Parts: sequence; C-alpha cells; structure tokens
Amino acid sequence: MTTQREQLEADVLIVGAGPAGLSCALHLANRIKQHNAGGAKPELSAENIYVLEKGREVGAHQLSGAIMNPKALAELFPGFEKSAPLDTPVTDSAALVFTDKRSYRVPITPAPFNNAGNYVISLSKMTKWLGGLVESAGVNVFKEFGGAELIYEGNGVAGVITEDKGLDKNGKPKGNYTPGYELRAKITVLAEGTRGSLTKKLVETKHLENINPQTYGIGIKELWDLQPGKIRPGYVAHTLGWPISTRMYGGGWIYGLSNNRVSIGLVVALEYENPRFDPHAAFQTWKTHPFVRDILEGGKLIRYGAKSLPYGGWYAMPRNYLDGALIVGDSGSFLDSQRLKGVHLAMKSGMLAAETIFEALKNGDYSAETLKLYKEKIDHSYIKDELWKVRNFHQSFRHGLLEGFFYSGLQEMTGGAGLIDPMPAHAGHEAYRPIYGRPAPERFRGDGKLTFDRLTDVYHSGTRHEEDQPNHLKVLDLNICSTKCAEQFGNPCQYFCPAAVYEMVKEGDGQKLKINFANCVHCKTCDIADPYQIIDWTVPEGGGGPNYEGM
Ligand code: SF4
Repeated sequence: MTTQREQLEADVLIVGAGPAGLSCALHLANRIKQHNAGGAKPELSAENIYVLEKGREVGAHQLSGAIMNPKALAELFPGFEKSAPLDTPVTDSAALVFTDKRSYRVPITPAPFNNAGNYVISLSKMTKWLGGLVESAGVNVFKEFGGAELIYEGNGVAGVITEDKGLDKNGKPKGNYTPGYELRAKITVLAEGTRGSLTKKLVETKHLENINPQTYGIGIKELWDLQPGKIRPGYVAHTLGWPISTRMYGGGWIYGLSNNRVSIGLVVALEYENPRFDPHAAFQTWKTHPFVRDILEGGKLIRYGAKSLPYGGWYAMPRNYLDGALIVGDSGSFLDSQRLKGVHLAMKSGMLAAETIFEALKNGDYSAETLKLYKEKIDHSYIKDELWKVRNFHQSFRHGLLEGFFYSGLQEMTGGAGLIDPMPAHAGHEAYRPIYGRPAPERFRGDGKLTFDRLTDVYHSGTRHEEDQPNHLKVLDLNICSTKCAEQFGNPCQYFCPAAVYEMVKEGDGQKLKINFANCVHCKTCDIADPYQIIDWTVPEGGGGPNYEGM
C-alpha cells in the first residue's frame, strides 16, 4: 500500500541548517528582498524557501574545532562583528611536535597553522545565530525534520520526502504516527554536511563522482572548563606526532576560548591499516601528554562530540549541479584539508548557490544548463583559489607522514601540482590489513578524571533518540559481521565508532552484532569506514541525535 503523504511546494528546499545551508537561505532571502524592493518582476518570496533541520534546534548537530576564517561571513553579513557570537580572535598560533613525554614548538609557525585574523568560535552558537537571521528574513525553518528520500524526476531532483514519525521499533505505526511530508521544490539544495545520506545516494544514482573517491577524517572533541590562568583566550595550538604513528595522518588541537574554556580534539584520517585502531582511545591517550594534562589539571569535562570531515578536496568534489538540485558545504567537498578549514568555504558555496538560484527563479529555468552557473561561480571564486593549491595535498599522506612531507613540499613549490597531478586517492576502508587471528586488545576505560570511556563521553554529548523507533543504522548483511568481518578484520565498527554503538555479543557458539543506535552522535564514520560498505546511515526520527550546544 502506498503511503498517503501531505504535499507541500516550495521554490527552494534546503536540506540541512548548517553554515552552508543557512548562508544559502540568508543570501537568497537578501537578494529577493532587494529584487522586490526595486519592483522587478517576477515577484519572489523568501517564504517560499524551506530549510530542514534534523536536530532539536538549529545548531544542535553542529560541531567543529572550530576556528573560522571570517571572510565569507563578512560578505554575507557586513558588520558581523557587532552581533555574531565570535567568542575570541586568535592571538597566538603554535605548531607543536609531541613525543611521548615532551613537546617542541616549531620556531616559525608554518603558514597552514597560522590563524592570525581568524576567530575561535562555537559553530553551534554561530549557526544558531545565523538561523535566527534566516527566520527573521522570512524563510521557513522546519526543525526536527530530516530528509529521508529524494524525489527523482526526469534527469534530476524534484524535492524530498521527510522521515516518517511515530513508528515503533518494528516499523509499525504508533498512536502518534505521522507519515513524512512530500516536499516538492523547484530547486533542492543538499547541505547535509559530511557524507550526507541523500547526497551519497544522489552521487551514486546520477554518477556524479569526480576522478578521486572522497576520503574522510574523524574529529573527536571535548570542551573543558579550566582552572583560571591555564590558557589564554585566542591561544591556538596544533599538535603533530605522539600518539599518532607516522604511518597515519592526524593531529591534535588546543583552542583557548573565553571564560577559561578550552576546545581540545584529535583528528585522524579514516584510512589507517589497523582495523582495531580506536580514534576515541587515541584522543584520550593524547590527553595524557604532559602538555595537555597540565592544561586540563583541575578542570572539568563539559561537552563531547565527534564528526567526520571530507578530506578529498578538489579532485573528489562531486558534480554539484543537476536538474533541480545543487550540492553545497561539506556534502560537496568544500574543505581545505591542509588547513582543516571548511566553515568559510561552506558558507561561500551556499552563497554562490543562492546567487545561482536567484537567477534561475527570475528566469523560471531550473535545469542543469542554468544551474551550472554555480560551478562557474565556484571556479571564479576564492574557493577554487584555496582548494586548487592543495588539490593533491591529502593524497600525499596516503603512506605516512614522511612521504607526505616530501610530496607536499614539492606541491608547495609548484602551485599544488607536485610530481603527480592529479594524484590518485583510494577509499579509506581499502587500507585495512587483516588481523590474522590476533587477539583483540583491551578496551580503553579511562580514569574518570582526565580520560573517559566512550559511554561517559556520549553522556556529555547530550545525545538522545526515541528508543522505540526503527534502527536508523541499516546493516545490509548481518551475516557478514559474524563471519567474514569477524575473521578478517575483527569488526572494526566496534573500534571506529566514537559512541559505542556497535558491539559484538555472544550468541550460542558464535557472536552477533548488537547496535545501540540510541547512542549515535551522527558522525557518519560507520557509513564511511566499514570495510564491506554495508552500513547505511539513514535519518532517525527528527529531533534525535546529539545536542552540541556551545560546541
Ligand atoms: Fe558515528 Fe556511526 Fe557510531 Fe553513529 S553509529 S556515532 S554515525 S560511527
């Protein structure tokens, strides 16, 4: 039986209220306002722009280090300094090399680590503020609604079906059952963040892949309240070395916020060989370094979160326009993997999408032929300038740090070309090496003061999901988990998930996968890093997930 769905029609439907989606909405609403004020035809309306946010409120699912280059915000909202929640300008940028006991500051901070002119922010607060501006501009923001399915029509996209609400864990309707809406739009903008679930399907279905597959990292973060005087606001340090092996790509960060608060975290490329590598445990171990321990001593963990980020850059950017649809932000690979900066690029991509949409609405033409203006605008913007220089950067580190420094040094001298251009990349999950029967290592437990196990951390992420709903983590063949994957790789999902969602439990003489989906912090790592690519992250009932307030 086909589900009867309420249908709504919009001019523009933006899936995701992150920096890219909100910048798109605000820039477009501003353009429409100017257009209508001049009496131009056709009259357009910001009320016909819809934004979907799957979190409880705008900002709830937004996580980043976060240092923001303010140049896109300055274009979007001149005078932003007066009202944007900027926290603190960067006052000192340090690059530190860690051995297990010592740290060394690089005497002259390399350019990619120099953050002069940038701000340390809370991305959650920043997007919440942007969300307020967007709503004040007349745009309709629907909170607690996720995009569950794309509506395909002809060669393109005609909108989105939102998730059904009120289903029980077996998929049966409960008393509060409401079928998802059929939201039809002239243009759908995918702004879902990294590894967007709709974007993934769209890229596969319409063959939008670029020459390289997308590669990813996972960032794990904690916010701490510190004893007074432990860190200066605006002090920013990036660490290289211990405990991350030179065969891997990753490092830590320490960002001083106002009011004796610090953002700390570790980011690691999801392309390591050891299938039992545990990014959460690596982050906890990093915190025991004397340099970090000293800062945190006497402090208190406030919040926790994790997020994946797209490292692939220019050569992994999917085609980002087609009939009736555009892809912006992290979903579209707008991240500088050398500087690990994506917020301003996400915002700028959203604004360029808005300018393209504005032209399309005026002309009443939503075809790929018209929407390719978006790609042309990207190619003539600082997005291209910034990403083109580092187009081969991340691929250089595929076999470890030393080789990476060699290749990236040559790229620095040749405007990004280096020895091989384009340098190929491989999907990260292909890097796993078999475990050959080696016993599982002991799991990291933490001391409860400086270091924590994953469940304690998840508690600090504010995550909650209605338990009586279908599991949103679809494993396409559970048999593989208890047989092939257990033997070959020791079930990496138990290790890479930073929220203890996946557990192999005994069943008779064997074992089976248990999925504690209510813990999920929506980082998408499982969808990315599963060796058999059989985990499909889908949207849970709207409003579920973390609450990254202040992160
Ligand atoms: Fe991240 Fe997947 Fe774990 Fe959820 S289940 S926290 S998306 S790895």
